[in-house]
Parts: sequence; C-alpha cells; structure tokens
Amino acid sequence: MLCEVPRFAVDAMLGKMAKWLRFMGFDTLYVYVRYPHEVRRLVSEGRVFVTRNRRWQGMKGVIVISANDLDDQIVELAEVLDFALPDDDEWFSRCGRCNAVLEQVDRRSVTGMVPEYVWETTEEFFRCPTCGKVYWPGSHVERMQGKLESLKRALAEKGGRDYGGSF
Ligand SMILES: [Zn+2]
Repeated sequence: MLCEVPRFAVDAMLGKMAKWLRFMGFDTLYVYVRYPHEVRRLVSEGRVFVTRNRRWQGMKGVIVISANDLDDQIVELAEVLDFALPDDDEWFSRCGRCNAVLEQVDRRSVTGMVPEYVWETTEEFFRCPTCGKVYWPGSHVERMQGKLESLKRALAEKGGRDYGGSF
C-alpha cells in the first residue's frame, strides 16, 4: 500500500489512461519504453510504471493492467495501489496533453484564444504553461466530472472503502 500520492509513468497503448490520470491531478508521464533499464530509471525516479505489456510483469514498481476499458483500467490501478481518487478541487489541475500544472490566468489575457461566447460567460480560465492550451469550467468539464464521479463510486463499491466525496 502506498501512503503518498503516486506519480506515474504510463506506457504507450494506455494514452487515454495517461490523459485521465492527469485530469485527476496525478503527475503522469506518457512514455514509450523498450528496455528494462528504462523501466528501472522511471521507477528509481519515484514513478509507478503502468503498462499493458506482460513483458515487464514482476519488475519492481511495475503494474501490468489487464482491463481493456478505461474505467476498468483506472479502477484496477486504484485497487492495486489502494489510492483514493483525488478530491474534486484537485481535478483538472494538470494539462491532459502534457502533464504541466495549469495556471489560473486573468480572463483578459485569453481574449481571442477561446470562443467569444465562452469568454463572455466564463470567469475562470486556466492555461498550460508548457503548451499554452486554455482550459475553463464548462460543459466539457462537467461531463468529465460525471465520469470521475462514477469511477469513484465504482471504486467505493468494490473496495468497501471510504473514498470521501459527496454522493
Ligand atoms: Zn499542455
């Protein structure tokens, strides 16, 4: 069991999972690994290496995921590591594209970078300092939040553990 918040390195073929772990606030690298020393390096840097490749089974710090469906994959990972999904305010704190922690920016600074109706109706904007992608709370985020809530529920039912949250 890990007590601290895990950091991940997610193998190629699990790109969707990498993106979702980032949306949940986890520090997650998306990597393409070919050699054992690359796996060992990631693990020595304090990351859990998550892969579908059975070749790495049994190596220290490696979790081999067998589920095909994204929801099941995240539940599988959370069960193995026994980590709680983050609280709501931790969600969407990282860029899904490149893992950088998002920065809240003044709405005037994103003029012309988001659709006009969004700019008119939204107070809070966040920007990725690495790739520049602009994020804002909206229907997209609400849909993702719904998904994360259903994941939390699935975990709570399976583990019988209190994962917090308000449902
Ligand atoms: Zn980015």
